[in-house]
Amino acid sequence: MRLEQIEKVCTDVGIILEALPENIKNIEGIAVNYKGENMIFYNPQLEGIQQLRVIAHEIGHHVLKHLTQEKSDTVREIEADIFASVFTAMSLFAKTAAA
Ligand SMILES: [Zn+2]
Repeated sequence: MRLEQIEKVCTDVGIILEALPENIKNIEGIAVNYKGENMIFYNPQLEGIQQLRVIAHEIGHHVLKHLTQEKSDTVREIEADIFASVFTAMSLFAKTAAA
């Protein structure tokens, strides 16, 4: 799945996807709600499947309503990782099926 396709997925679920500034090196990605807008900032220095995994993880935080739910950080991170795994696997399958 290419970045443009991930951007479309984000748009479809109401998330604004933005690259972090290049001088920020220690953050892979972050999901935030800013002034009512669901946003994901990702590190553009990540490549390929790594970039997809990080963005999918952050989509998971939004889709699973983690920004507004009372859950432990551990549960939120595990749930987002599971979401990202399924999302990434399905993306790879779709890529294979389309080839
Ligand atoms: Zn997370």
